[in-house]
Amino acid sequence: MCMSKIAILGAGESGVGTAILAKDKGFEVWLSDAKEIAPKYKSILEAENIPFEENGHTVEKFFEADIIMKSPGIPEKADIVKELRKKNKKIISEIEFAYGFTNAKIIAVTGSNGKTTTTSLIFHLMEKAGVEVGLGGNIGKSFAWQVARNPKPVYVLELSSFQLDDLETFRPDIAVLTNITEDHLDRYDYQLKKYAASKFNICRYQTANDIFIYNADDSVTNQEMPEYRISAQKQAFSMNENKSSLIYEESGLLKMMDADFDYSSMQIVGKHNAANTMAAILAVRAAGLTSAQIREHLPSFEPIEHRIEKVATVKGVLYINDSKATNVDSAWYALECMSQPVIWIAGGVDKGNDYASLIPLAEEKVKALIILGPYTEKLQASFEGKVPRILMASGMKEAIEMAGAVSESGDCVLLSPCCASFDLFKNYEDRGKQFKENVMNLR
Ligand code: ADP
Repeated sequence: MCMSKIAILGAGESGVGTAILAKDKGFEVWLSDAKEIAPKYKSILEAENIPFEENGHTVEKFFEADIIMKSPGIPEKADIVKELRKKNKKIISEIEFAYGFTNAKIIAVTGSNGKTTTTSLIFHLMEKAGVEVGLGGNIGKSFAWQVARNPKPVYVLELSSFQLDDLETFRPDIAVLTNITEDHLDRYDYQLKKYAASKFNICRYQTANDIFIYNADDSVTNQEMPEYRISAQKQAFSMNENKSSLIYEESGLLKMMDADFDYSSMQIVGKHNAANTMAAILAVRAAGLTSAQIREHLPSFEPIEHRIEKVATVKGVLYINDSKATNVDSAWYALECMSQPVIWIAGGVDKGNDYASLIPLAEEKVKALIILGPYTEKLQASFEGKVPRILMASGMKEAIEMAGAVSESGDCVLLSPCCASFDLFKNYEDRGKQFKENVMNLR
């Protein structure tokens, strides 16, 4: 028998998950990574006896493969991808590959912001209701690994826009699009339309039996939706009562025709999380949960680390870690839900941000802005004269010391950087952890 050959481009979570699934399914598997493979993944490949190369690609081996799986982190402009496209090689994504080997019900979540929160809440509600369910995708273990080694009848998947590229048949039973705001535009030739198109891939192969859940308040979603032929049944959520939405928010209640849910009973806060919760409620209802089951388990959902996470109160000042706010929109929602005067810590690598939308909230709420260096100029120029005080900090320790010095009892100190973290930190988790450690040292 002639075995199919799969060549896998990139040996991270998606690549290694795909390799394991492909091996289990009888493929001849080979992986290649342009860089050094992380020790964690290398030892898995060795233990599984899967051949690989690192620090460069042998193009000929890709040419020999029947299928190529390209990891979502590898851009189209990478030389190897250009070369494979030129040769018309069949390139699919990990999500597409794994989808071919499962009959599970799939709830898939994408969007610019709110993916992790919404996905985790859906998973929490399903699991608490006693459904046997797996959580994966961009969060935790890859979908391919789950299908290979942790098979479940239902999966909740968080999918980034990159994971929605190179699909051919992937058809989630329930798809959720939280919102579309400018982010990662560098990967889409700085065209919002192209970025939006990859988000709409989530419903591209859905049929009339499937459900597509979207945000009726989101202008980019509304503007782009008519461009697509969407066969799924559409269900919208909104912060306002209107004809098109199945669920909306009113005075702390999330209201549907036949049921109300008490948002204020939850531990997460802010309008953005009310929107995420409405999306999750529609998804789990579509998956068969009852209103009573949902109501019972909303209050036990815990805020996720680094997302408006209350860290500690020191000398009457509440410290909040929102390190995951790597774009302007997420920082807007964080500032919006602060009810006390704010010492705002922001800054990092600017991804072409326009801070204008934050100015009214900063004028209203921010007592002092502490800018985390080294790239301070653009933030400083944007908020000069808009907030009473601007301070510069060269690192997290200094930022927290400054925050401790300028704050008074009743204030809050909010880390919501609206920038990427790669200047001073390894990633947003490292930035959030350093924030928390330094806060703990104040006590
Ligand atoms: P993602 O997985 O899409 O990055 P998260 O749930 O991890 O989303 O949240 C990322 C950041 O965005 C956090 O700062 C969070 O407070 C904020 N956020 C969460 N949901 C939304 C939303 N619906 N709209 C805007 N910002 C949001």
